[in-house]
Amino acid sequence: MSNLFYQSRQPRPFLDRGEGIYLFDQSGKRYIDGSSGAMVSNIGHSNPRVLAAMKAQMDRATFGYRLHFRTEASEDLAARTAALMPAGLDRVFFVSGGSEAVESAIKLARQYAITQGEASRWKVISRFPSYHGCTLGALALTGYDPLARPFDPMMRDMPKIAAPTCYLDRDNLTDDERGLKYAELLRAEIEAQGPETVLAFIMEPVGGASTGALVAPDSYYGRIREICDEYGILLIHDEVMTGAGRTGKFLAAEHWGIAPDIVALSKGFAAGYAPLGAMVARHDIVDAVLDAGGFLHGFTYAGNPLACAAGLAVLDEVERAGLVANAGAMGEVLKARLIGLMERYPFIGDVRGKGLLLAFEMVSDRDSMEPLPKGLNAHSRLVDIAYDMGLIIYSRRTRGGIEGDHFLICPPLIVTEAQVDEIMDLLTAALDAFADEAGLPREG
Ligand code: PMP
Repeated sequence: MSNLFYQSRQPRPFLDRGEGIYLFDQSGKRYIDGSSGAMVSNIGHSNPRVLAAMKAQMDRATFGYRLHFRTEASEDLAARTAALMPAGLDRVFFVSGGSEAVESAIKLARQYAITQGEASRWKVISRFPSYHGCTLGALALTGYDPLARPFDPMMRDMPKIAAPTCYLDRDNLTDDERGLKYAELLRAEIEAQGPETVLAFIMEPVGGASTGALVAPDSYYGRIREICDEYGILLIHDEVMTGAGRTGKFLAAEHWGIAPDIVALSKGFAAGYAPLGAMVARHDIVDAVLDAGGFLHGFTYAGNPLACAAGLAVLDEVERAGLVANAGAMGEVLKARLIGLMERYPFIGDVRGKGLLLAFEMVSDRDSMEPLPKGLNAHSRLVDIAYDMGLIIYSRRTRGGIEGDHFLICPPLIVTEAQVDEIMDLLTAALDAFADEAGLPREG
């Protein structure tokens, strides 16, 4: 019996060490980290330059409370981060994780509205499905029922619009038209809620765990920005998973030339070397809040110098090794290989994503996109089979109003083409074993 507990009973082996894209358990068994943990370990494990930078910071100080000292590490990381953001987004607030970054974003937005004489604005519209975190504020925005329902009485009900699950649509619209159709859901919801009550809209530019790397048609992103501007609503990009280079740009927003008003970052930002997240906001928003008396928010560990030193060294590594570009290039290679799987496995219905945030979804029938029967437990069976073979992947069963199994294949951004081959060999072996076990057809 262990005193430590996790979300559920799932005994896994003890981790011994990591090296690049590989992890080793205490029996010496090697695993490919095909999901970068939970899309975190962007620069791979045990990077010696990052460890040396952290050691150097540890030798000086590991903590200095933000009300007592400024630290070079946090100042430098804020400057480096701001330089990577769209113009105007240059005020950085550090936190220790993704949920904290989202909480910070919505509280800053709320205080800003008050400074603008718009205290009636408090509703944050989000999408369904979505994931924004597990603290009660972020959970209220999360469109994923199994996690949220028990806590309903403890949260404000926040309005949600359908995420653009276009791959399920069977209409005759063009991609562009579909993107606009889904974006217009935001306008309809704002009107239904009363525009004077709506504070912000939050979305993951490329969906993460809840949707399996859902990407909207290009037309969606610009129209969402226009609608937010039209109604004076702040646009918050939750780039906790997409940020720090995972999609082949530092921010996913760059793919569409969009400047959000506030961005939430974490995961790949310190890439698992320390708990770190950031909220980056437009400077006029921050100035208005500070001028009005200050941001009524802050965590004890915010701006911790050790975490910031890790974040700085991770950014150095991302830049030194050209990892954003590699995510784009290897993402293309891996996506093409995943699409290739559709020839062998008729039960793979969709492959989607951007850069190295990629996923495939299993279906009973490609035409109707009906999900596999729940009883097959595909989402956990394939993960377990792959795990036994030494490949770690990430899965969920959920989508839109109905249910389906999707699998995220998101290796560290340092992955090479030869390692993509290794991943594909193991994934194919795991899919063969799963198909045989589940009695599903496969070709060749
Ligand atoms: N937002 C998104 C898009 C995420 O993917 C996650 C984590 N899966 C979070 C927020 C919450 O981050 P954390 O678990 O670090 O609190």
